[in-house]
Amino acid sequence: MSPQTQSRSQTHANVDSAEIHKFTHRAREWWDPSGPFATLHAINPLRLEWIDAQADLTGKKVLDVGCGAGILSEAMAVRGAHVTALDAGAEHLEVAREHAHEAGLEIHYLHTTAEAHAEHHAGDYDVVTCLEMLEHVPDPEAVIDALVKLVRPGGWLFLSTINRTPRAFAEAIVGAEYLLNMLPAGTHEYGRFIRPSELGAALRRHGFEVTAMTGLTYSPLSGRYRLVGRTDVNYLMASRRGDDTTA
Ligand code: SAH
Repeated sequence: MSPQTQSRSQTHANVDSAEIHKFTHRAREWWDPSGPFATLHAINPLRLEWIDAQADLTGKKVLDVGCGAGILSEAMAVRGAHVTALDAGAEHLEVAREHAHEAGLEIHYLHTTAEAHAEHHAGDYDVVTCLEMLEHVPDPEAVIDALVKLVRPGGWLFLSTINRTPRAFAEAIVGAEYLLNMLPAGTHEYGRFIRPSELGAALRRHGFEVTAMTGLTYSPLSGRYRLVGRTDVNYLMASRRGDDTTA
């Protein structure tokens, strides 16, 4: 991954406090569909369908890593998954707990990191999701090392992030943060974007097979997101652990 991913100021246990602050300081606005996390609300049905079509979430034991206030976690629970979700930000986890409680959903929210959780839960999950988080972490490979451990043999790992291409710089940073005001300015840093080839290589080193990939684009004309073949900006990757590998 790019060299800039290592140069962070305040880091502890692979958590960048400045990055977490971007999500905690507006904790109460997470569930506002037109608030600072509107993009996550808008893409949620698309990514949920894509994940469910492959891994069939009903009855599955799922871990959602970097869950925020639970936009995806709740949607997966509604699909019938047994969801545990973790995040490094305490304030929005509190919002997540309250929101799930009001919705009558039983989700186990944990204030921890993937690395710490993997120490005691190796191979515990049928499906692990880690969406829109890796580009906010100082050492994404260390997170991937933990994520692969958490998946049971034959289980699924879904990742999403932003590709490191000129088009991603133009659309995901200049367009989304500065021209269209879809995301708060400063949400993303180009040096932290990750190429699909880098993610795929890291997964294969752990005995995972990349089974599918899709791009996700926003059309300013229609104001809608859709899944597309090209993965040069936002993308989702599905991968599966081999049956008898040690991750
Ligand atoms: N996955 C959710 C939220 C994405 S926003 C979704 O797609 O809807 C990124 C989230 O990752 C934030 O909630 C932030 O607090 C969390 N995060 C960032 N670094 C983290 C780390 N090292 N460990 C756990 N959570 C982290």
